[in-house]
Amino acid sequence: MNGSIKQSLKKLGLYHPLQSAFRDSLSFLQRLRYKTSYRKYKGGGFECNFCGASYRRFVPEYPTADIEQAIYGNKVIAGFGENVFCPNCLSKNRERLIKDVLDYYIDFAGKSILHFSPEKKLYQYVHSKATVTTIDLEPGFYKTIDPTIAQGDATQLHFPDEQFDIIIANHILEHIPDDEKAMKEIFRVLKRNGVAILQAPWSTKLPTTIEDRSIADPLQQAKLFGQKDHVRIYTLPDYTSRLRRAGFTVNCIAPAELAQFQQHAIQEGEPVVLGYK
Ligand SMILES: [Zn+2]
Repeated sequence: MNGSIKQSLKKLGLYHPLQSAFRDSLSFLQRLRYKTSYRKYKGGGFECNFCGASYRRFVPEYPTADIEQAIYGNKVIAGFGENVFCPNCLSKNRERLIKDVLDYYIDFAGKSILHFSPEKKLYQYVHSKATVTTIDLEPGFYKTIDPTIAQGDATQLHFPDEQFDIIIANHILEHIPDDEKAMKEIFRVLKRNGVAILQAPWSTKLPTTIEDRSIADPLQQAKLFGQKDHVRIYTLPDYTSRLRRAGFTVNCIAPAELAQFQQHAIQEGEPVVLGYK
């Protein structure tokens, strides 16, 4: 979109709501298309844990050319692959993974949950069983998912201490320049004995996290960090030590243990990071 139109729409508070409505109509059309074109794969080895539909294969998603080097070159576990979207409800592998974690490891029914930048299917599910508060830096983008979403900055949360039993920050922290401040804030608003689900993309090849705060150009960010609004690529050991510094007791669920959910077409080789208080 033309930069000045975008700026004017942003000033009017219309840019993200329009983008959100556009995304919704696209996904409506996409769903129709996949439902038809994937009919031939119906009834196979993968089952969506949101809608229950099963298919021999799900819809793939691969990195675009501009981010290929960052993702493949650094061996980043970022959710790309052969079976990403459910052809029936468009749930994404990263949402299905969190649903399994909630269902099998966390007693979340009736609890108070903070869900950052809510994913549609995951939000609908937790909202049906618990009290969910949602926030995003640019909430307009999520209004069609949760009309009550509030504007919120993860590095300066507008909640009192120890407010939430469970916090879902699924692929959030890699967007935030001062991630350690955000981690401390998430820790602060989490109740004692609470748990935060803290997924991010991790490189399995880099020796340490790469980041450079002087880079604030979407094209360069895409090329270096694999997405135009990412500010780093973590390694798992560095990521978990940052969380520990923020106060969390970290527990990773290993991919071998998560393999029991492979029929839900989750990302292979992805551990789940849980932060306890
Ligand atoms: Zn589905």
